[in-house]
Amino acid sequence: MLSGCSKSIMLGRRFAEFNGAYFGGTLPKYEIYLCKHAARFLPQAYGQCLSRQKRILIRQSLSPKEMRETLVHEMIHIRTPHHGSKFQKECVRLRKLNAPLADWDTVPGYKPPSLTERNAQILIEDALVDKLPMRSIRRYLEQEFYRPISEIEQKIDLKRLFARMKKQRITELALVNRMKKQHKRLLEEQLMKLEAK
Ligand SMILES: [Zn+2]
Repeated sequence: MLSGCSKSIMLGRRFAEFNGAYFGGTLPKYEIYLCKHAARFLPQAYGQCLSRQKRILIRQSLSPKEMRETLVHEMIHIRTPHHGSKFQKECVRLRKLNAPLADWDTVPGYKPPSLTERNAQILIEDALVDKLPMRSIRRYLEQEFYRPISEIEQKIDLKRLFARMKKQRITELALVNRMKKQHKRLLEEQLMKLEAK
């Protein structure tokens, strides 16, 4: 059904538990899937919340702690698609309840990349390398910039940017190199985790 993913009964139970403990049991039921990195994910994403399908995807290479943190993060996304002030408020509320949240979500004042055309291009290239369909790119930008798309498009002319990128014809070679870099980064992350143990 979802290639590279398998349904996790254990995380499904966690979902029910966290729903009760942190959301007053008000979230609709979601199915939780563990997925291979390459199968589903954006370069830096640990998880993904598919609201229409009522599914949460979590990268299977994560540690149990990271999985719990990612699950809570994606559960917030059920009602709050991007990482704006509403999302931040939810993090503050959940932190008070001692919910498992990643440093990423708990560091006050974490700043997303600044809203520039250059940053947008880097994000879009990464997303394309990871085979994210074009229709999902706006939502991806919302997540990465922590802003609704309306605000992003006020500052960045996405249509013009797409056209320019097409013209530049990101060559096959450039894509391959970037992928190699990503693999190297993933490998380094894993090695650092090992060293930290
Ligand atoms: Zn998120």
